[in-house]
Amino acid sequence: MKISKIIPYVLNEDLEKEFFFSQWEYSNRKICIVKIICDDGIVGWGEAYGPAPVVKESINYIKQNIIGMNPLESDVIWSTLFRRVHDYGRSGVFVSAISAIDIALWDIKGKYHKLPVSTLLGGSYREKIRPYATGLYFSDSKTLTNDLCNEALEYVNEGFKSIKMKVGLNLKDDITNVKAVRNAIGPDIELMIDSNHAYSYDEALKLSKKLEDQDIKWFEEPLSPEFYDQYSEFKSKSLIPVAAGECEYLRYGFQKLLDKNCVDFLQMDICSCGGLTEAKRISALSSTKGVKVIPHTWGSGIAFYTAINFISNLEPMPGRLYMEDAYIEYDRTENKIRENIIKDNIIMKDGYISVNDKPGLGVDVDDTYLNEIKI
Ligand code: MG
Repeated sequence: MKISKIIPYVLNEDLEKEFFFSQWEYSNRKICIVKIICDDGIVGWGEAYGPAPVVKESINYIKQNIIGMNPLESDVIWSTLFRRVHDYGRSGVFVSAISAIDIALWDIKGKYHKLPVSTLLGGSYREKIRPYATGLYFSDSKTLTNDLCNEALEYVNEGFKSIKMKVGLNLKDDITNVKAVRNAIGPDIELMIDSNHAYSYDEALKLSKKLEDQDIKWFEEPLSPEFYDQYSEFKSKSLIPVAAGECEYLRYGFQKLLDKNCVDFLQMDICSCGGLTEAKRISALSSTKGVKVIPHTWGSGIAFYTAINFISNLEPMPGRLYMEDAYIEYDRTENKIRENIIKDNIIMKDGYISVNDKPGLGVDVDDTYLNEIKI
């Protein structure tokens, strides 16, 4: 079997209502996905996390190096691609481009062997995964605190047991909003906060101290991703556990986060850290330090089911008779692409999502919809 064609697409959706986080506002969503076609007719799908039009061009730039190769040899292909960008692409869009291609190769491998990707990764430790709701973004509403409480209660009513909210507006509003949301949802729902690296060391530590009685499961990206020493110091002082990794790339980047003891939860995005091949290596590194992996998950249903397959294969840590739930991030912001691009809906039942047992990633891409929204 040989790779015949690699076609990247940019999917585009204008949002009905814009929303904000600590860095900028979203009024539009663009996602880069890739289709790999083999000479025997098998088709694989992958997805990148990153600036979609630029990643698309990166895929077009590197793809000629692997046309004609055997798609089942995904390690060899990964290495071939990485060597071509090594000198100028050890992080960023080239790694996202490799990630998308790598995910599509795993999809092909699964379809070829008629097995789910989770089985090819080594098997599924669990039949269901606990989604946490990512939402509670900012808006220009005059009643933001109240809106956030109502939104959080909607997630509780939908069955979510864990909710992540944005912080990073300013310390005063963050403290007000987090306390109000905690009060609204009560003590039995897990709450996480995410500042998207909006704060300096002093500010982040102050926020952590002010919220340490709010039973926060983790404080995500309190600091800028470059400041490994600050992360390490912050983690030693914060009673709230620390999570980060969505801005990190490759095992070499994650090794820095781990060696400096920066985080309690490691959050690689499979669609940008180097794909499933590299995510598996990163999770092995993480296991040597006893740090839990809960991937950052964004984008379309392709990225979502990539994460489902990967998370189902994450080794329980620590091992025990009654396993702790594994978590998947489930973005609740407006996103028509996520479910429309795949034919099956994502189903949450009693607060969990089942691990699929279909070959490959288990996604059936809707070509008609793709043609409608590609740009
Ligand atoms: Mg985040």
